Amino acid sequence: MVQIDTDRVLATLRRLAQFGAKGKGVCRPAFSAEDLASRRWLADQMREAGLDTSIDAVGNVYGRSPGVKHALLVGSHSDSVPTGGWLDGSMGVVFGIEAARALREQMPAAPVGIDVISFADEEGRYLSCLGSRAFCGELEEAQWDTLAYEGCTLRQAALAAGLPASGLARLDPQRHLAYLEAHIEQGPRLDRAGLDIGVVSGIAGMHRYIVTFTGRADHAGTTPMEMRHDAGMAAFEFAIDCEQRFKAASATDSVWNFGAVQFTPGVANVVPKVAELTVELRDISAPVMERMSAALTALVAERDGARQVAVSLRQQGALPPAVMDARLCQALDHAAAERQGKAMTMPSGAIHDAMVLARHIPTGMMFVPSIDGRSHTPVEDTADHHLVLGAQVFFDGLQDVARTLQATAG
Ligand SMILES: [Zn+2]
Repeated sequence: MVQIDTDRVLATLRRLAQFGAKGKGVCRPAFSAEDLASRRWLADQMREAGLDTSIDAVGNVYGRSPGVKHALLVGSHSDSVPTGGWLDGSMGVVFGIEAARALREQMPAAPVGIDVISFADEEGRYLSCLGSRAFCGELEEAQWDTLAYEGCTLRQAALAAGLPASGLARLDPQRHLAYLEAHIEQGPRLDRAGLDIGVVSGIAGMHRYIVTFTGRADHAGTTPMEMRHDAGMAAFEFAIDCEQRFKAASATDSVWNFGAVQFTPGVANVVPKVAELTVELRDISAPVMERMSAALTALVAERDGARQVAVSLRQQGALPPAVMDARLCQALDHAAAERQGKAMTMPSGAIHDAMVLARHIPTGMMFVPSIDGRSHTPVEDTADHHLVLGAQVFFDGLQDVARTLQATAG
């Protein structure tokens, strides 16, 4: 079995963390000077790993294996939220570079190459998973001038960052047999269970709704309780009952959130006239999400008119779940077992570039534990032994996937 250079993995990760270092964490928002400097450095690392490397118009750093017909696409993102940790995204990019190095050094005749990518703006300063969408042909030309942050369009930001005016790296379904991404879990499950590796079964989709309760504004001191059209109390009662309905309609890993509520006029001495409740539900199964949405819709119909308050529902956003390829899950699971890593299959509640890629080619994802489940904060961390084991298991998994898929690709 090929042993990867785990000291080099840790050293590369620590060097990358110096770009935009902020305490223990990093600040590398998309198109910032720190983000661009780290991308140029990553391009050098990919070249040293023997890859034909370039940075495209949106900032994706893409290194292609020379001289192969087929390759696995491997990577993640290297931008961060403003108060980010050192491993979110970065780990997957560094694992990819190390995998490409190990392949070149120890298996130079391998028929399936490793193409490595660091996607731009996964964290969504301009658009969530911007780089992977562009790579997959999902970014429309007009969006370059409509997506904006602090008054600056995407096109202006990319040019100001010194990126080429045109030319995007693109997914090649003839070449790319699969996409694999390693990432920190960003949640507490592996850490709490004392496990080493998470094999991601799917990435949760999300439905977001606004429930609007319309009553009547009245004096809060003079209006008798039974005469009120109290939109506020109707909303509170609805949320409590809705949670019970969700519990009945959901699956083990479903989650929901009543994340925002707004009252109009929203003052202490007026009975609320209008209440708006924001509801999000997430699961990795589309039928489960449909079941939960149906429960919500049914409750809206039931409650419409109760407490002399009208209730209506509108959907604000929908993101379909992404299913990971079973063959890739199996390969990662097998690789973990071979290296005595304790693994579990689990969903991802967070969005990743893999969600975009899964719409186009077979996709797999692997997690390592996050200490105390912390992420998107400078305290984000993973034990060295988990980084080392994760890099090795990921590489072994890639080799297994390459063998399996090459046999069918011919
Ligand atoms: Zn990430």
